Amino acid sequence: MDVVHVLHMNEGVGETSYANNSLLQKKVIILTKPITVSAMTDLYSTLSPTKICIADLGCSSGPNSLFVVSELIKTVVRLHKKLGQQNESPEFLVLLNDLPGNDFNTIFKSLLPNFQENLRQELGHGFGPCFVTAAPGSFYGRLFPSQTLHFVHSSYSLHWLSQVPEGLEENKGSIYIASTSPPSVLKAYFNQFQKDFSCFLKCRGEELVTGGRMVLTILGRKSDDPSSKEGCYIWELMALALNDMVAEGLIEEEKLNSFNIPHYTPSPAEIQSEVERDGSFIINRLEVSKVNWDPYENEICYSSEITKDKGYNVAKLVRAVAEPLLASHFGKSIIDEVFRRYREIVADRMAKERTEFFNVGYLIGKSDDPSSKEGCYIWELMALALNDMVTEGLTEEEKLNSFNIPQYTPSPAEIKSVVERDGSFIINRLEVSKVNWDAYENEICYSSEITKDRGYNVAKLMRAVAEPLLASHFGKSIIDEVFRRYREIVADTMAKERTEFFNVVVSMTKRV
Ligand code: SAH
Repeated sequence: MDVVHVLHMNEGVGETSYANNSLLQKKVIILTKPITVSAMTDLYSTLSPTKICIADLGCSSGPNSLFVVSELIKTVVRLHKKLGQQNESPEFLVLLNDLPGNDFNTIFKSLLPNFQENLRQELGHGFGPCFVTAAPGSFYGRLFPSQTLHFVHSSYSLHWLSQVPEGLEENKGSIYIASTSPPSVLKAYFNQFQKDFSCFLKCRGEELVTGGRMVLTILGRKSDDPSSKEGCYIWELMALALNDMVAEGLIEEEKLNSFNIPHYTPSPAEIQSEVERDGSFIINRLEVSKVNWDPYENEICYSSEITKDKGYNVAKLVRAVAEPLLASHFGKSIIDEVFRRYREIVADRMAKERTEFFNVGYLIGKSDDPSSKEGCYIWELMALALNDMVTEGLTEEEKLNSFNIPQYTPSPAEIKSVVERDGSFIINRLEVSKVNWDAYENEICYSSEITKDRGYNVAKLMRAVAEPLLASHFGKSIIDEVFRRYREIVADTMAKERTEFFNVVVSMTKRV
């Protein structure tokens, strides 16, 4: 199966369209909205970009496509106003991605005009220009230029694999991992998930700016067992309908045996381990939530169409998602019958047991760059002084090559992630502040020692800290000369740029 060209949600706005049958997915977006909004708030407060580039990956077609984006834009514009800025909010570039077969036309024809108008009305003046564009292609490959995205959102899309895994010959009679599937099938699916998800992370790692955010909600499972009902029951019931039709000669057995869904419902631990292996992201938050299969559960008013028949509601939802896949393999003619049977089977099961989808929500921040000037410039300038001395033969090259400072300047996210992994503390507050390298900046009275020479002030400060380390490695005799040169280099640098130390303050409580 050529997933890139076959997979798409039912197009248009008709009875069986995704646009008309995606209430469940909308409920999931609403459920995760607090995470999305807080991630954007964080992003805007820390990076304050003047142009914000937002990508929604696997946007599909219908009201959900622009729903998250409009929430994100509102968050920024409101925050911008709250911060007292009089000028227009940043400019927005919205990139809507899905596979090429997606019905982008419905978004641009019927939804986009209202989207812009509603935002303008709701936000009033101060809402900066907003450009919306389509980005067709698979998110298991590069979609955008490097370092362009500030915010990536993806909901209910990343459980789709790039292809049907290889090695599923033994999965006869099933269409996804099932309770009866042999271990080789579980392994084939898991391998494909690992390959795809790591590729996704690598590509997004290149496309996001440093400090950019990514909120991913994936249809997943809580259990570690991929063949538990949580992850695969919905397809197991579909396989029942298909098997019945094989038994009645309506579908060839061979056709059923060669059909498998390119889909994987990962557990939080599986996602976490890929994110850690990739290394370019830090998990800021991870949550598992659940929604009933029937999106109309708890709705008070049922119209005639939206019946109390749970089987009908769920069959419609799954049809909007899976019809093109099934039709391309089994032919269009069997579709009505498959979903008639599926509806009955689902209704029967839902009357007997509680059926839920599990959503694994992730908020991921692109790792802050430990080689940024913020963290290492003060030592880079020291290395300049030492290199100069190597060139002039005042110290040996080998000595310099074997010297490294036992220090690390972590980012807030790095601290947070270690604290969370450790688990014994709760972070009450985590703040970043900064101070100028020159502690005497803004002091009005300079005594004779505390001169206006910033290089002198900083070199003195650094000497008090680093002299013993340097002296024990290079010998005492070079210290005066190192700091004389360092003072000059620092003075020169500080005359040209703003130099600051960043302080990360964390206040924690020990858990009971
Ligand atoms: N985010 C929307 C749509 C979810 S449906 C919502 O929450 O309602 C899942 C979408 O992911 C589908 O439109 C499907 O075409 C898309 N998708 C699946 N695999 C993809 C891939 N490799 N690249 C881009 N989009 C993909």
